Parts: sequence; C-alpha cells; structure tokens
Amino acid sequence: MIVSAASLVDRVLLEVERATDEVVDFTAAMIRIPTVNPPGEYYEECARFIGGRLEELGFAIEYFAAEGRPEHTARHPRLNVVGTRAGLRARPTVHLNGHFDVVPAGEGWTLDPFGGVVRDGKIYGRGSCDMKAGIAAAAFAAEAIRRAGVPVPGAIEVSGTVDEESGGFAGVAWLAEHGRLSSTRTDYCIIPEPLNVDRVCVGHRGVYWFEVAAHGHIAHGSMPFLGVSAIDGMGQLLQQIRDELLPVLAERRTAVPVVPPGARQATLNINGILGGQPVDGIQTPCVADTCRAVFDRRFLLEEGFDATRHEIEALIDRVRARMPRVRYEVKDLMVVHPTRTPDDSPVIAAIEHGVERVLGRKPARVASPGTYDHKHVARIAGVPHCVAYGPGELEQAHQPDEYCRVDDLVNSTKVLALAILELTGAIRL
Ligand SMILES: [Zn+2]
Repeated sequence: MIVSAASLVDRVLLEVERATDEVVDFTAAMIRIPTVNPPGEYYEECARFIGGRLEELGFAIEYFAAEGRPEHTARHPRLNVVGTRAGLRARPTVHLNGHFDVVPAGEGWTLDPFGGVVRDGKIYGRGSCDMKAGIAAAAFAAEAIRRAGVPVPGAIEVSGTVDEESGGFAGVAWLAEHGRLSSTRTDYCIIPEPLNVDRVCVGHRGVYWFEVAAHGHIAHGSMPFLGVSAIDGMGQLLQQIRDELLPVLAERRTAVPVVPPGARQATLNINGILGGQPVDGIQTPCVADTCRAVFDRRFLLEEGFDATRHEIEALIDRVRARMPRVRYEVKDLMVVHPTRTPDDSPVIAAIEHGVERVLGRKPARVASPGTYDHKHVARIAGVPHCVAYGPGELEQAHQPDEYCRVDDLVNSTKVLALAILELTGAIRL
C-alpha cells in the first residue's frame, strides 16, 4: 500500500505543529528530572516518566533493568524503557532511541539547569538538546502520524536508555546484548542526538584509550644519579609522541565526513598524568619511581584498530630502546571501533527526503568527532541501517545554558515523522 499523497504528508506535518506545546512540555518535564551521570541519578523516575507518557500516546511499554551490569545498583538502578506501537505488519520496525542521562551541570549557568525554563523560543536546561528534546521529538513524530490517522505498515519503537555519556553499556549495549535491539527484529534505527536539524550523522571515528605506566627506581633526591626517574621516562614518551607520532597522525585524513574539519584527521589527547609524590603533600627527597598517563587516541575507519595499537606498541618499543633503565607497561582501557552507515542505506535517504521536504534543502552528511550509541546498534545488535538525526545544535551539548530551539524541535519532529512513514512503506517521498 504505497501512496504518494501530498495531503497525507500535510496532515502529519499539521499534527506536529498542533502538538508543539505538548512536545515542549514533555521536553521541559524530562529536564526537571536531573538524571545526572555520573553517578546516574533519578534514572528509574525518568524511565517511568517516559514510559508513562509513551503509554498515554498508545505505546505498549517494556522496562529493562540492566541486570548483571556492575553499575546497576540498588542506589543507582539502571532502568531502560522501550515503547512499541504495532503497525499493520510486524516489519519493518523503525526504532528511535534516545539516552536520558545527562552530564553534570557544571559552572557558568545563568538559569536553573534543571528548571525546564522555556523562554524566547528556546528550551533551556542540562540535557535539553543532548538529548531529551530528541526523545520528545521521537515520541511525537509517531503520535502525529497516529493523530493524522495514517495507517503504518510496520512497527514504531521509541526507547529511552541510560548511560550513553559513560559508554552506554547498561543502556543500548545491554538491550542489544539481550536481543531487544537486534537485526532479527529491528530494521532501522534513528538516534535523535543533537547534530543540527539539517545534518544527518552517519557514524563516528574509533576510540582507543590506553594507559602507560613507567617504572623507574627510587633513590635519594639529593643523589638522583643513583635512581631512575619514571617521570623522565614518561617525558621521553611524550616527546616521541610529539615529534614522531603527531605529525604522522595529522597527515591522515578520513573519507568519512567527520565534523568539525579538524577532526577529519587521526588525533591523540593526553587525558591525565600522575607521577612521583603528590605535589600538594609534604615533600620528601625522592626520585619518582612511577609515572602513569592515560591517552585518548581517536582513529580513523581507514586506520583500523589493529594498526593503531601496533603503531603505539612500536613507538613505545623505540622509547624503550632510548630509555633502557625504565620499564614501560601498556594497558588497554577501552576500544570503540569506528562506525559508518552504508552510503545507500534507506535510513539516510529517508532522513534526507524528510529534511528536503520540511526545510527545503538537502542535509549535509556528517560523522561525529566523538562516539555515541550508534556503535552498539551497528556492532552488537547488527543493525547497519542506523543514523543520528535530531533537534539541537551540536555545539550546545554539555555547555552552560544549554538550550534547544523550539523551531528546531518542531522541524526535526516533522522530519522524523516523514522518515518513519517512508521507512515503514506508508509513503514514498
Ligand atoms: Zn547525547
């Protein structure tokens, strides 16, 4: 039953417009539940609030506590919610996923970060754009279709999940590992992260976090020649990273459209370093016998993880050759593989068609400089047809006075509604 009825599209878009106040109120109400991560405050309250709202909108609700995850505790339970609206047929299923955890408010706010203040066409608050507005957009995209009375051939799912900001292991990864998000039941996934209303995000770079510990030999600080300084050993590593590795990384460019342009290359950041005795404690004259540092290497799809890790090992071997008395240990902390949606994926096309229809321009395809739950959808659930598209500006995420523009919210709700209709085969745009 494929119809290309402009009137049908217009009816759905009109229902989104009519629901503006409800979408804004839903977003603001979620902002007022301070789901700060870490440690994961008020997750249960927020999951049940989202579930209750979805139920009012006609979804069948399931809750999933992340049993088996160490961070799922009695004090800070990890509760996820999935709402399903059955269609005329079971498939295809379009799953819209948003994380409801938010990063801490931080300094510099001029209004209450958890007040859900709506002013001058903007919804303010921590998590407004990243990404409670996205959850509201997903819910009301489906609702506008229902209110317009459009029969949908496939199923629509909307989920609210935890812990994206800390890796998503008790959230989307848990749902994927337990088969609730899976290629056997999920055809398309859209994550309404704030990547700007006219951009569709098709993946992200890889992440390799590793720790290097340098071990020296303690001695009296008045006779440092009798010891081996671990700080000196770490200094040698840092120098070789700067002189040998960073220039090479800067030359490597990915064909994946990562934004901003500076993130199109391979990068390395030093997250932290700790060596010798604490500098604000009482000092004793000692040669530092340990020094540890944590590194954040963002690698490109074209590089791959094995080559990335091998390059680090080879570099450290060259450092060892120069510093034979220092012992270096390397420990992997986290690996996230790069992800990219296939160019010809129907989910990209559906978002592009929706943006063209709603905003009158073709959206840019971008990839994220960081990482988000896309990786779990693609790698664990095995669903390749996943993109991020949602309301809010990327630059607003994690900032003081974070906001989402109401017109962005309405427009992206419209785009999501049209994408759902196209992906389920209700219309062809
Ligand atoms: Zn986010």
